[in-house]
Amino acid sequence: MKTKILIIYTGGTIGMVMDLKSNTLVPFDFEHLYKQVPELEKFDLELSVNSFEAPIDSSDMTINAWKKMATIIHENYHLYDGFVILHGSDTMAYTASALSFMLENLAKPVILTGSQLPIGMIRTDGKENLITAIEIAGAKHNNLPVINEVAIYFEYKLYRGNRTHKYNAEHFDAFKSPNYTMLAEAGIKIEYNQAALFPKPVNDFNVRLNMDGNIGVLKLFPGITPAVVQSVLHSKGLKALIIETFGSGNGPTQDWFINEIEDAIKTRNLTILNVTQCNQGSVNQGRYATSKGLLKAGVIGGNDITFEAAITKLMYLFGNLNDKLEIEKYLQISLRGEMSI
Ligand code: ASP
Repeated sequence: MKTKILIIYTGGTIGMVMDLKSNTLVPFDFEHLYKQVPELEKFDLELSVNSFEAPIDSSDMTINAWKKMATIIHENYHLYDGFVILHGSDTMAYTASALSFMLENLAKPVILTGSQLPIGMIRTDGKENLITAIEIAGAKHNNLPVINEVAIYFEYKLYRGNRTHKYNAEHFDAFKSPNYTMLAEAGIKIEYNQAALFPKPVNDFNVRLNMDGNIGVLKLFPGITPAVVQSVLHSKGLKALIIETFGSGNGPTQDWFINEIEDAIKTRNLTILNVTQCNQGSVNQGRYATSKGLLKAGVIGGNDITFEAAITKLMYLFGNLNDKLEIEKYLQISLRGEMSI
């Protein structure tokens, strides 16, 4: 029996065309994209397509669109061997992170890809990305999928999705996974880094669609005012906050600042997660005097989690659990390989 792959087309540059009236790139339907890649006919795989009715630029990504993708995978899970999601690169790291939490005990590949240039352009990076992503989604070893997780394939590299970050708006090599090694590299052969891959999960596949969007972000900068800190910490409906700190998790030591944080945690029951502004490395609260106050106030250290994974992990935990202590326990352990602990 042929290996079956489902392509989920959400939009993004890969399928965009130039709208001559407005002179901007706009999402276009999958037929257009399919016609540009006659190579797809040559695969010894069975390809099917499920396209968003109205493809989007990924800057319009929403929790509902994540639910739609997770539902499509859920409904087709036993019918296909692997899934390829075509997605704009701008928020691809967020979607990959969100899906990694929503799809529990995944035992099949979910590979996100897209491109920096539309597939209709001569120098497009979209063809290679699409063709190799399909090949990876269909890869098997001893009749079992090689990849059991949500990953991003872009410009010859396969990364764990919830470790990625879009760091370049112009180069074809748009993604980095600063704190976790590549899962595979495509050259003449696709070389899988076996030691970095997840084994087949023991428990059954399960999908959790609830994601709570009541999460805020406070990015620190020298000179930040009490008014700005207060306005973020007092946002209506806020349940959790990411505080984006300096270096290994450091921030101001002034009383007004620590008191605001402590008040939010102790009086208003907010969960606060410390994520570094650095692209690489880890939060280590207590290493410097400038993070001791945060630790004492009850801020949780985010280790080496990316901002994208931190936001979506909080959405997932608050969407599915009520007990603050339980949520805070899960924030300190790695659920899908999103942290190096
Ligand atoms: N703005 C586009 C998007 O994210 C960029 C891309 O696809 O690379 O949908």
